[in-house]
Amino acid sequence: MRLSTKLYLFFAGIVVLPLLVAALLFSFFLNRSSENTYRTRMQSGLAAVSAIVSQQDRFLAASLAESAKNANAAALVSADKARRDAILAVIGNDTGALSVTVTGPAGAIQGQAGAAGAAPMLKAVVNINAAGGTWILTALKPIDTNSIAAVFSPQELKWGVLAGGSVIAGSLPAGPFPAPEGMPAGKTAAAGTFTARAGGQDLVAMALSPPAQISDRQLTLVAAVPSATVSEASQRVLEAGLALTALALALAVLLGLFLTRNLTGPLRKLRSAAAAGAAGNLDQGVEIRSRDEVGDLASSFNMMQAGLRGFISELEDSRTRLQLALSYTGDILGSTFDRNRLVKTTAEAARLAAGALGVWVEVPPAYGSAPHGAIVVSVPAGFFKDGLAEAAGRLAPAVMSDPSAADRIQNIDAGAIAVAYPISHGENILGAMVAIFDRRRPPEKGMRSILGSLAAQAASALENISFGELQQRLAVTDHMTGLANFRSFQRSLEQEVSKSRRYRRQLSLAMIDLDDFKVVNDRFGHQAGDEALKSVAGVLTRRIRSSDTVARYGGEEFALVFPETTKAAAVKVAGSLRDAIAGIRLPSALGARITASIGVASFPDDAGDESTLISKADAALYRAKEGGKNRVVF
Ligand code: GH3
Ligand code: MG
Ligand code: MG
Repeated sequence: MRLSTKLYLFFAGIVVLPLLVAALLFSFFLNRSSENTYRTRMQSGLAAVSAIVSQQDRFLAASLAESAKNANAAALVSADKARRDAILAVIGNDTGALSVTVTGPAGAIQGQAGAAGAAPMLKAVVNINAAGGTWILTALKPIDTNSIAAVFSPQELKWGVLAGGSVIAGSLPAGPFPAPEGMPAGKTAAAGTFTARAGGQDLVAMALSPPAQISDRQLTLVAAVPSATVSEASQRVLEAGLALTALALALAVLLGLFLTRNLTGPLRKLRSAAAAGAAGNLDQGVEIRSRDEVGDLASSFNMMQAGLRGFISELEDSRTRLQLALSYTGDILGSTFDRNRLVKTTAEAARLAAGALGVWVEVPPAYGSAPHGAIVVSVPAGFFKDGLAEAAGRLAPAVMSDPSAADRIQNIDAGAIAVAYPISHGENILGAMVAIFDRRRPPEKGMRSILGSLAAQAASALENISFGELQQRLAVTDHMTGLANFRSFQRSLEQEVSKSRRYRRQLSLAMIDLDDFKVVNDRFGHQAGDEALKSVAGVLTRRIRSSDTVARYGGEEFALVFPETTKAAAVKVAGSLRDAIAGIRLPSALGARITASIGVASFPDDAGDESTLISKADAALYRAKEGGKNRVVF
């Protein structure tokens, strides 16, 4: 369930439900009070009407007494019947009574004017004291029903005057009025309501009985309202209540929406910022508007992003270091002919890649076919204090003699640790690398594997150097004699001729061909021939100056370049070489001897370029052979 939904439901629970309950209670009580309204109206209406009727009666009594006095009521007793009726008629006129009668002491009617009708009548009496007893003068006057209607009609009440169980006046239907049980007959003050059915209508009614003496009959006043009117009023109240409740609900819903949006809005922003962060954009912070928990969350989020940015920049930094180390690695492989540079680059790459305090790389002299001194490099220059340098110097040979000690973190002192790696290629241990670290920042496994692979790369680069050196030597040397080969001879001759030309110096060339060498082979075998060639090469090498070049020109032919040498000097050297060769005893050929023929030519006397010089020397050599061999010709 979404947070907004939860909040919304929560809000509904604490606001909307109590609101509904309150609305229901409210409408219930309003309903009750609408009934009470009618009850109050009936009660006060009945009291008012009762008072009005009593007032009318007192007025009638007063005007009857007055009129009786004026009309000399005492004369009624003494007057005859006709006179008596005339007086009564006058009184009737004065008081507005409908009927005026007088009864004698025995109760019999002695005179009468007018007659009472069916309408409810007010009654007033005046006693006339006479010698024979008390005569009673009685006046009946209709109750003023207009004044009763004037009380009830504005209150929307029906009313009736009941006598003997029937409605004799009022707005209630005329005729018998069912007085159900509980109708308070004869009560002078109205109290509770009762229900009755009259004229096909259910009524809620209330009744009151004025004092009996005010009328000629016992009267009852009834006020009533149709039950339907009461319940309609309740209905209206209920509807109003429901409408109010609906309005309150709508307001609550709007308020809930507003609150929910207000609360979840910042959370949505947080979520989108988090999604942006996941996609790599860590710069989308969240604006902190509120000082509540959501605001705290936003500021924590911003802090987390800042932390992540720092972390990423650290990662980028280490990636840069790795890239640098890789470029160094390229350098290592590229610098295949420079051992010192290779070792230094390896050390520098290892230090950078692993974030080491310093790195020591050592390659002992034993390695390689050519004689090299031990190479020891430590980076950064001068970093290794005495203690560290000593430790690194101890660890390097240790890991060379026991490669299983490699990649193990070893304590050096309180602040430093070290890891050592052999620089080995297959079975060949070529050297060692020792990296020193701050004890608080030991290298993790990944870093150590980089160190290991750097050592392996350095090893194969060292192997390449040795192999390359061998190849280089093979390319310029004759394999059997160790002398310069034909290509190398040509290059030397070229260089020397151009040098001599530039500095206007002399240069001589001697071509040597061993005499009857086929015979040596034929007689003593090829191996003996080879030995002879090596002996001659050794003699030649020993006898010439270091600036001279001696090369194996062909099978049993040798060429010598004498820079800065005149023809005469060269001929002299050639003669001594011929003698030296002749002095060779071949142990593998039963002590046999060999001789050589030598042709000499000089630059610039005999030739202006190297190829002419060679052919001139060749020609001289040919002539030496022609001339009987074992000689020097120029
Ligand atoms: P000459 O030069 O005096 O005329 O006679 P030669 O017998 O030396 O004749 P040539 O120069 O024609 O023959 C050279 C011989 O040298 C042929 C070959 O058997 C031999 N030879 C050349 N190279 C080698 C080598 O590397 N080892 C051996 N054992 N013999 C070689
Ligand atoms: Mg030859
Ligand atoms: Mg020969």
